[in-house]
Amino acid sequence: MRDEFDDLYEKIRKGKVEREDAIFLAGKPFYLFCIADELRKEEKGDVVTYVVNRNINFTNICVGACKFCAFGEEKEEGYLLSMDAVLSKVEEAVNNEATEICIQGGLHPDLALTDYCGIIESIKSKFDVHIHAFSPMEIYHVAKNSGMSEEEVLKGLKNAGLGSIPGTAAEILDDSIREIICPGKIKTEKWVEIIKTAHRLGIPSTATIMYGHIESVEDRIDHLFKIREIQKETEGFTEFVLLKFMRKNNELGRMVNGNVSFLETAMVHALSRVILHPYCNNIQASWVKLGMRDVQKMLYFGVNDLGGTLMEENISRLSGSPAGEYMSPEDFERLIKDAGRTPKRRDTLYELII
Ligand code: SF4
Repeated sequence: MRDEFDDLYEKIRKGKVEREDAIFLAGKPFYLFCIADELRKEEKGDVVTYVVNRNINFTNICVGACKFCAFGEEKEEGYLLSMDAVLSKVEEAVNNEATEICIQGGLHPDLALTDYCGIIESIKSKFDVHIHAFSPMEIYHVAKNSGMSEEEVLKGLKNAGLGSIPGTAAEILDDSIREIICPGKIKTEKWVEIIKTAHRLGIPSTATIMYGHIESVEDRIDHLFKIREIQKETEGFTEFVLLKFMRKNNELGRMVNGNVSFLETAMVHALSRVILHPYCNNIQASWVKLGMRDVQKMLYFGVNDLGGTLMEENISRLSGSPAGEYMSPEDFERLIKDAGRTPKRRDTLYELII
């Protein structure tokens, strides 16, 4: 006998989920989890992917003042890596089979487009590797420092060899929340505009959420629907990445009470699968934010991707991340197999490699 949940499941499968359906499911975790797991099975089977990559945080000097950040420093205290240092990190990564170099940094007051292009060009002249670099906030900052539009900056970076951009700096796409947690950051409209411009220029990106601070369940749901709408229009997101707020050593951590529960983490991962279906079908959990045990459990709550090896992770570590700085391909393989799934290595754009 069909019941209301069968009808709701069919509606979601057809990509017709509505805000009130998501809010309803957020109050019925058992059904939410079942639907998320079914959709994951239908879309991705048992395959769980990961990418061999390396993070390079080329500078921590930042004029921003995000309240959740323990990474940015004043110019006097911070660092800016030399090109030689960047290249030797890339070389080490490529020697360890990395196919992607992820580059992000603080908002350095003195760097302009030529500096950012210089980093990409130097890497591309020596190594055949995908460059995944510079968030919408960094793109905005470079445009301002260079007296150019964000579109001109994106075109310049693409010409230099940029492959894709991280959809970080999204946090929660709601200006009343951004005003509290990161008042100096670009507003929602600007984030969306830069992402859509990148997609239009043929530069794909990830999409992210930072959950677990002052936002409500409804705010998370609204954020997910904004991502869904962009993806329906551009199809430029490669994946949706969930980033749990890390509360150590930062002002926001001192403002909020209590830790994010496992149930809450499971629910926001499952809601992501349900709301983004079928437009964005790669849902990624972060081992850096969750640690090995919890990230493995997320495979039962709609997740089909575990991100990258990273090799060097500074931003979350400084805010109290429970995980290390590197997860080897062997670690990924073991963790995924132990969950009863099939590990596959992928590139940045989700082409399977092994
Ligand atoms: S999150 Fe990024 S932009 Fe904000 S203060 Fe930290 S380094 Fe700067």
